[in-house]
Amino acid sequence: MGLWLLGTSGAVPDAGRDYVSLVVEAADGLILIEAGGSPLHRLRRMDLDPLRLRGVFLSHRHPDHLSGLPGLLMGLWLLRRADPLWIAGPEDALERARALLELFEWQSWNGMFPLDWRPISLEPGALVDDSGSVRLVAAPVVHSVPALALRIELPEGAAAYSADTEPCPAMVRLSRGVEVLVHEATGAYPGHTSPEGAGRIAREADARRLILVHLPPQVDDEAWKARAREMFDGPVEIGWDGMRAL
Ligand SMILES: [Zn+2]
Repeated sequence: MGLWLLGTSGAVPDAGRDYVSLVVEAADGLILIEAGGSPLHRLRRMDLDPLRLRGVFLSHRHPDHLSGLPGLLMGLWLLRRADPLWIAGPEDALERARALLELFEWQSWNGMFPLDWRPISLEPGALVDDSGSVRLVAAPVVHSVPALALRIELPEGAAAYSADTEPCPAMVRLSRGVEVLVHEATGAYPGHTSPEGAGRIAREADARRLILVHLPPQVDDEAWKARAREMFDGPVEIGWDGMRAL
């Protein structure tokens, strides 16, 4: 049981980091959060069985967050998955995902398992999944396209994941009192957050710990941590691919 970081880079991966993604591991299955890069490879490296996936959450439509979906689904099909898989996210992200799958004529894949598309409304507190031991709740954040951040409630405690966003009050509300806040720290660009900004959100949300992800190439770990600590007194870590977050 737990929450793991599969990838921690922003839109430009480097030798040590793949596109940002997370996986929730619970007794009743896995939930993948983001599908950039190669999710099957990342799950296998973590010794997690991809056939245990119950669902996939896509925070928004940018390629670094969903471009690996066709490869993931093809691999699961070839592994003879039979159970339905839910795919949740903002409606326009799901539209892009479906268009991407159409390129590969996925509906002609013989014996393909069913997909349960779940458009999530851009309203604070929208429920993504509550069918097992994990509860996922989303809230819209501030990015160049519609984007949803997630609150992840596990028996071990609650975590929040910012997706791509500017620092915003919705993120503070969503991550109120979490054990760990996994926040992007791309840098001070429109639609993104600086390390100081991530620290400020952690402080205002009263998060216990902060992990920075969606990092720029060859990020200076110590400098990024120091900048977040200017705003947040709790523990700050730089995320790395394969790290346990909760
Ligand atoms: Zn983005």
